[in-house]
Amino acid sequence: MIPAFRAPWEPDLWKALLRDSVRSSDALLQSLDLKHPAAEASPDFPVRVPPPYLSRIRPGDPEDPLLLQVLAQAAEAEEIPGFTEDALAESQAVRSPGLLQKYEGRALVIVTPACAIHCRYCFRRHFPYEDHSPAEHPASLATLAADPSVEEVILSGGDPLIADDAVLARLLEMLSEIPHVRRIRLHTRMPVVLPQRVTADLLKALGDSPKQIITVIHANHAQELDPATHRALSLLAGAGVTLLNQSVLLKQVNDSWQAQKALAEALFEQGVLPYYLHLLDRVSGTHHFEVSEEEASSIMTELHARLPGYLVPTLAKEIPGESGKTPIYWTTRPAKTL
Ligand SMILES: *Cc1c(COP(=O)(O)O)cnc(C)c1O
Ligand code: SF4
Repeated sequence: MIPAFRAPWEPDLWKALLRDSVRSSDALLQSLDLKHPAAEASPDFPVRVPPPYLSRIRPGDPEDPLLLQVLAQAAEAEEIPGFTEDALAESQAVRSPGLLQKYEGRALVIVTPACAIHCRYCFRRHFPYEDHSPAEHPASLATLAADPSVEEVILSGGDPLIADDAVLARLLEMLSEIPHVRRIRLHTRMPVVLPQRVTADLLKALGDSPKQIITVIHANHAQELDPATHRALSLLAGAGVTLLNQSVLLKQVNDSWQAQKALAEALFEQGVLPYYLHLLDRVSGTHHFEVSEEEASSIMTELHARLPGYLVPTLAKEIPGESGKTPIYWTTRPAKTL
């Protein structure tokens, strides 16, 4: 049950929490009573963990599935054939600075380069954000307004909810004025990692838009969801936002049907439907997270046998140049147990 009434957070709390984020491997391990030697992150993608996420990591457990997502490993520095900086050929998808388009009808605005958390497996960890400044927003919006084929605009980054409420309100207002834009989608990890981001002004900006708003959050493990994320998600749902989740299949973090089943159920309890389960993008510095397509398929087989269809995400892989994300289907079926 979604609790009947909860208030949004105070407007500046999330900024104060963000400033208090842990910013080094040593500080991260120390705060969790862990002693093993820390690998330092490369300076262009430092460790970053905001306090609400840190509070969900179990102290003293070096295998904690949340810790593994944020702790830099020595393996990040290894060069592995097949893992490259622009594995998704995003440089080919740039329509203009700050505006990407790969698929028909959907264009993606890089709202900001920053994120509240640094996920070590991030597919945009080498993205040339310096070429995609927020100063380009007006030009991007003009391009979108002039192209009637764009029906959905995705606000991405970085994390679009790192932008101030005023910036977001202005962007949403301008997008709302474009008649051919039917849907506005936000791709954000913020409701999960810093739920205090859900302020009254944000809810107002979302609720005021005449367009349908979809928010695709990003949680990889049931342990990432707690009463604070529930409050944030309930508030967003109350503003009329459709809530979906995308996650990445990550070795040691969520590579079992049990972990995936628990995630799907925990998401639904907080009002979110599973959307995509992505195979890892082969971006340099992330190979230690890779799960094979065969293992992924066998997890899906088990999941499909145990969950209602609406709780099973689409297992997908991004293949550069394709007309959409590529679904990976599975063929073997487990024996029926009933
Ligand atoms: C993944 C992606 C989308 C969204 O694809 P959907 O299948 O609609 O979720 C849109 N634009 C870009 C550039 C993407 O990488
Ligand atoms: S929140 Fe998303 S964009 Fe930001 S570091 Fe994590 S995976 Fe990358």
